[in-house]
Amino acid sequence: MEETVLRLEELLFPSIADIAVLSVDVNDEVVLIEARCTMAGADCVGCRGWSERVHSSYPRFPADVPIAGKRVRLCLRFRRFICGNALCERRTFVEQMAGLTRRYGRWTERLRSTLAAVGLALAGRAGARMAGVFGVAVSRRTVLRLVEALPDPDPPVPRVVGVDEYATRKGRFYGTVLVDVETRRPVDLLPDREASSLAAWLAERPGIEFVCRDRAPFFAEGATVGAPQTVQVADRWHLWHNLSEAAERCVAQHRSCLGVLVREPAESAVVASPPETTGSPWPTGHRFADRIRDRHATVHTLLAQDTADARSAASST
Ligand SMILES: [Zn+2]
Repeated sequence: MEETVLRLEELLFPSIADIAVLSVDVNDEVVLIEARCTMAGADCVGCRGWSERVHSSYPRFPADVPIAGKRVRLCLRFRRFICGNALCERRTFVEQMAGLTRRYGRWTERLRSTLAAVGLALAGRAGARMAGVFGVAVSRRTVLRLVEALPDPDPPVPRVVGVDEYATRKGRFYGTVLVDVETRRPVDLLPDREASSLAAWLAERPGIEFVCRDRAPFFAEGATVGAPQTVQVADRWHLWHNLSEAAERCVAQHRSCLGVLVREPAESAVVASPPETTGSPWPTGHRFADRIRDRHATVHTLLAQDTADARSAASST
C-alpha cells in the first residue's frame, strides 16, 4: 500500500520534494487531490530564518493541468508559521511549496507555464479558447499577461543582421525590426526608426559582420555610425521590390501601345459601351482608375461575347 502511495506521488508530483498525497477523489469531471507539505518547518519570507512554530493552517485549491481528460484541482493545506527572529518585520508567514505554488497564485506553476506556452503559440483570444478546451477558464488578457511575464529570450549576436522598419500604425508610428538573416529569426525591436537608436544597438554588438538593409538614409547613417566595421548590403527583397515598381511604372507609361493589342479582339464591343458613358460615379482622368475601368469593360464584353457564342451554339444543335 505504501509503495502504491509513493508511486502515486511520483506520478502526480514528479519534480516536487517533500509532499504527501493524502487522498485522491475522482468524479465525472474533476480529480480532487488532497496533499500537504511534509517539511517540519519553513524559511521565513522576511528574514529567511527557519521556523517550526506553527501558528495555524488553511486550505487552498489551485487548479492544475488535466489528467486523463479531467480537470484537476488540488486541495493543499498551507501552514502559517511564527517567525522567531525578534528583528524580523514579519511576525508570521505562510509556507510555499517550491515548484508547485506561489503566493496568491490560483494555478500550480506547471499550469501557469502551460498557459504561457499556449499564449506564446496562439496569443490571447485563440489561447483563451484553447485553454477552455482543456478545462481552464481564462481571459485573453490573462493569457497575454502570462506571456508578457516570461523572461525575455537572450538570442546570440547575429553575424548578418537585417534591418527594416515596422509600423504600429501605418503612416504614423514606425519602429525598427532587427532579424538574424542566417536563422531568419527576429532578434530585437526598437521603438523608433532613428539612426541613433540603430547605431546604439549595433555598437553594443561588435560581432556583427554584415548589415542588410533597405536604402532609407536613417538606416544607412545608423549602420555607418554604430558599426563602421560591417559591410552594408542592400537586401534582396527591397532590390526586387524597387525593380518591380520601376518595371510597373515603365509599363504603365507605355500602356497606350500595349492597350491596343489587349483590347483589339473586343474593340467593337468596347466602343459600343465606352466606360465614360456608363454613368460611373468615379472620376475620370486618374491613370490607375482608368486602367481598372477599361479592364472591367473588357472583361464584361468578353463575357457577353462568350454567352452569345454559347447560345448560338446551343440553338444550332
Ligand atoms: Zn522572519
